[in-house]
Amino acid sequence: MRVSNLFTKTSKNAPADEVAKNAQLLSRAGFIHKEMAGVYTYLPLGKIVIDKIIQIVREEMNAVGGLEMSLTALQAKDTWEASGRWDDKVMDVWFKTKLASGSEVGLAPTHEEPLTKLMKDFIHSYKDLPAYPYQFQIKFRNELRSKSGLMRGREFWMKDLYSFSRDRNEHDAFYEKISKAYEKVYSRFGIGDITYKTFASGGSFSKYSHEFQTLSDVGEDTIYVHEGRRIAINEEVYNDEVLADLDIKKEELVEKKAVEVGNIFTLGTKFSDAFDLKYTDEDGASKPVFMGSYGIGPSRIMGLIAELFSDEKGLVWPENIAPYKVYLVQIGGELSIECADELYEELKKRNIEVLYDDRDVRPGQKFADSELMGIPYRVTVSDRMLADKVYEFVVRSDGQKNLLTHEQLLDKLS
Ligand code: ATP
Ligand code: MG
Repeated sequence: MRVSNLFTKTSKNAPADEVAKNAQLLSRAGFIHKEMAGVYTYLPLGKIVIDKIIQIVREEMNAVGGLEMSLTALQAKDTWEASGRWDDKVMDVWFKTKLASGSEVGLAPTHEEPLTKLMKDFIHSYKDLPAYPYQFQIKFRNELRSKSGLMRGREFWMKDLYSFSRDRNEHDAFYEKISKAYEKVYSRFGIGDITYKTFASGGSFSKYSHEFQTLSDVGEDTIYVHEGRRIAINEEVYNDEVLADLDIKKEELVEKKAVEVGNIFTLGTKFSDAFDLKYTDEDGASKPVFMGSYGIGPSRIMGLIAELFSDEKGLVWPENIAPYKVYLVQIGGELSIECADELYEELKKRNIEVLYDDRDVRPGQKFADSELMGIPYRVTVSDRMLADKVYEFVVRSDGQKNLLTHEQLLDKLS
C-alpha cells in the first residue's frame, strides 16, 4: 500500500469530545472514525487490525473444533420471549425497532436464544453432539455509558462460541480445552503475561464463571490477583467462601484494575430447557443438551492494545496485529525514488507487509506519521544513505536505530 493512495489522513487532534486515550490515538492515526458515542467506523488501517485480531481468534477456535457461522443481527421478539430476555427489565441493553408491518424486532446483543432455537433443527441424537458453532458479529448494546472508546461500544465486534454437549462431563472437558485456547489467544496478542483467568459469578449450573482480565489502570473491573497461581478473583465474588474454595489466603492477593477481554460460562440446561432442546441418548432416553457460552471482544482488545502499547509519539502495535510490518520512507530526489520503488516491490514480493510513504511531504512528517500509526519497523531510503549503500532501520518499540545494507535489511525483515 502507498500512503499516497490512503485517503485517510493523520491529525494532530482527536474529536473534541473524545476522552478515551485509545480512541484519541486511533482517531488521530486514521484507524477509526467516531460516528457518535460508542459507535465507530473502522477505516482502512483499523480494518486491517481488527481483521488480524479476528483471524488469531479464529485460528484458535478452529483448533478446538469450532465451526464458524454467521447468525442474524435482526431478532424476532417471540424467540427472546421464550427465555424471558425480551423484557427490558431482564435485558437492559436492547435496541428495539419495528418492521413495516408493525411487529417488533431487536438488534442482537448476544445470541444464546436464536442459536439454541436453531440447533433444534440439527440436534436430535447423541450422534449429533457435541457441537461448537461460533461467529464473529457486530453486537448491539445500548450501554448506559460509553466513554471508553473501542473498549465499551454500543456496537462492537464479539466472538461468541457456544458448546452443545451430551452431559456435564463432556462439557467440563471442553470448558478446560477452550480455557487453554483463550490463554493462547491472549499470548498471541502480547498480553498473556498481564491477563488472568478470573473467578466471577456463575449461574445455576456452576458456582463460578471465568473471565479473562487484563491489567490496566483504565479497567472498569477490580480483581484480586494471585500472581503465583496466575489466577484472580473478581471483586463481585470476593469473599471468605471463595478464598476457602480456592485455598487462598487474603495476604496472597493484590488488588488491581482490569479490563475483561473474554469470558467462559457454563449455561447448563438454562437455554435448552427454555427451548426444549433435547437429544436421544444411546439407550433411547430423551435428555436436555448441556450448554456453555464463550465470548471474546475483538473491538475491546483493539482499544486496550492501543491504550497499553503507546507512548507520547503514538501507537506501538505488536507485530502480529500491526496493519503493516514496515513503514518505508523515501527522502530526496530521483535516485532515492527509484530505489525506494524497487525496495517496495521487493518487500511485497517477499510477502512483507509494507506501507510506502511516497508522498511529496517533509521527512519530519513522514517520520511522525510512521510513529503515530505505530508501524513496528521504519526503513528510510535517502540520497545520502544510498551513496553509502545503506538504509536506516528504526524499531518503533524501543527507538533502536541501525544502518543496514540491502542484504542485512532483508535478513532482519524475513
Ligand atoms: P462487561 O461486563 O464489560 O459489560 P459483559 O459481561 O457484558 O462485559 P459479554 O456479554 O460476556 O460481556 O461479552 C463477551 C465479551 O465481549 C466481553 O468479554 C468483552 O470482551 C466484550 N464486550 C462486552 N461488552 C462490550 C462493549 N460494550 N464494547 C466492546 N466489547 C464488549
Ligand atoms: Mg455488559
